[in-house]
Amino acid sequence: MKALIMGGGMSGLAAAVNLLEQGIEVEIIEADEIFGGRANSWLDEDGDMIDNALHVFFPYYVNLIAFFKKMGISQNILWKSTDFYFAQENGHQPVLHFPNLPAPLHAGVAFSKLARDIKGVSLWKMAPAALPMAWSMGASKSELDEMDELSLGEWARRFGPWEAFKLIEPATHGLTFTPKYAISAKVMMNWVHKISASPEVARIGFANGGLGEIWVGSCLDYIKKKGGVYAAKQAVTAIDIEDGKVTGVTVEGSQKKTADIYVSAMSPYALRKILPAAAFRYDYFQDLTFFENAPSLSIQLWFDRKLTDIDVTFFSMDCIFNTYADLSNVLPHIFKGGSMFEMVLSPADATRHLPDEIIFEKTLADIKRLFPAAREATVKKWKVVRERQGVYRAFPGMERHRPYQRSPLSNLYLTGDYTKTHVSSGGMEAAIWTANKCAELIAQDKLNKQLALNTEFKMPAWNRLVRPSVMAAAGLAGLKIGRSVLRFLKR
Ligand SMILES: Cc1cc2nc3c(=O)[nH]c(=O)nc-3n(C[C@H](O)[C@H](O)[C@H](O)COP(=O)(O)OP(=O)(O)OC[C@H]3O[C@@H](n4cnc5c(N)ncnc54)[C@H](O)[C@@H]3O)c2cc1C
Repeated sequence: MKALIMGGGMSGLAAAVNLLEQGIEVEIIEADEIFGGRANSWLDEDGDMIDNALHVFFPYYVNLIAFFKKMGISQNILWKSTDFYFAQENGHQPVLHFPNLPAPLHAGVAFSKLARDIKGVSLWKMAPAALPMAWSMGASKSELDEMDELSLGEWARRFGPWEAFKLIEPATHGLTFTPKYAISAKVMMNWVHKISASPEVARIGFANGGLGEIWVGSCLDYIKKKGGVYAAKQAVTAIDIEDGKVTGVTVEGSQKKTADIYVSAMSPYALRKILPAAAFRYDYFQDLTFFENAPSLSIQLWFDRKLTDIDVTFFSMDCIFNTYADLSNVLPHIFKGGSMFEMVLSPADATRHLPDEIIFEKTLADIKRLFPAAREATVKKWKVVRERQGVYRAFPGMERHRPYQRSPLSNLYLTGDYTKTHVSSGGMEAAIWTANKCAELIAQDKLNKQLALNTEFKMPAWNRLVRPSVMAAAGLAGLKIGRSVLRFLKR
């Protein structure tokens, strides 16, 4: 039995590994000149490593970590401390540090210290966010699902002005590339819910090297060793359908390929372009038309000196960038000498239409505002990355359009971070989870075999105590305020 996998990003490569392990013959073809999709890197003309963009890993990526272990590359994720720095005007750097305290105390302490130290938004303005944020940490799966009907902006406005929620703005832009009124509230609250599970879960992992370098080659070696074949620069340009199944595909406009099973590991935009009109008689394929790209850009800047010694993620508000790191501190064995800032520019709906040099100038102006050392520094080199960008835009209500991995065509399966999964609205864990699910369904349908490849990230038992603790804390605070008011009135 032969499977043809179309698309060689993380989900395509993981699907290939999974199917080979079930004894299925695999051919995987990729349109691009390199495998790895968006979680990728390459060397530029000077031999410098260019990441497609800064990618971070979280400990709750349990299926990705298991996959990396299987490939023998889990040591390629470099785990750092649970600190997120907020770079502000003139070098002010308050930090969101999750102390080693029992949850949810760790999150309470972390956010209140940040709220106290951050400049530009007063503590009393942020107060209305405390209760709803804490309440969301204890949300059940069904409560989170219901939040998909609202945008984050609409949800926040129920409790106070957006300013109250300003602290989650850089993470919202950095994770979803989408402004608050276009992003589902579920997406961000799902993230808040997960990182508040324990101090350990809020840790960030970086690629210990070029993003593609740490995993792509190992997967391709594994595929080859298991007898799989792969080829790049092989874009699928048409899919033929007859009697409820795929009968073959066209590659690069002329070459025909056939298989018993077809797996699309392409983006929804690529897939919907090459499906025949008849496919859109199925509601399932019509769902693909709801997907829009949330654009991003990435920029790398090499400085002649150190601008900071922080070796974790920075967040910034009201800048052209929002999430970034100085890789000369994260990976000092690779980026020697001065600072090398790797920054995600998002939402990039407008920015992407600017020429590279203007993007660079705006980025540098913001860096100089935030990092005083940059004012004297020289930029040795900079690079804007425009290819392989974006994630799907998780508008409110998008969850219902994410396609299940088993399609109505009897031999076509879908994987990819945009396909249906409860783990997140996209990202590398979603890519691996959906590749596992795809293989589970193929094993069930074609091999009559029950597989359980995915494991669930388990919220700690304390999670059930969040709501009672929040209510108790709110009650105590109310009592204290009441007493102060009484004392004031008695005077
Ligand atoms: C700026 C940026 C920052 C990110 N940061 C993070 C992060 O910090 N943490 C995180 O978890 N995730 C992050 N992500 C998301 C992560 O990169 C993706 O979730 C993941 O790489 C998706 O893998 P995939 O296989 O589903 O899709 P892709 O990587 O997009 O793979 C799809 C593949 O299909 C190929 N293809 C397309 N059309 C055809 C065709 N016609 N024929 C054959 N092949 C085709 C494409 O070339 C591509 O290689 C980020 C993404 C971006 C853009």
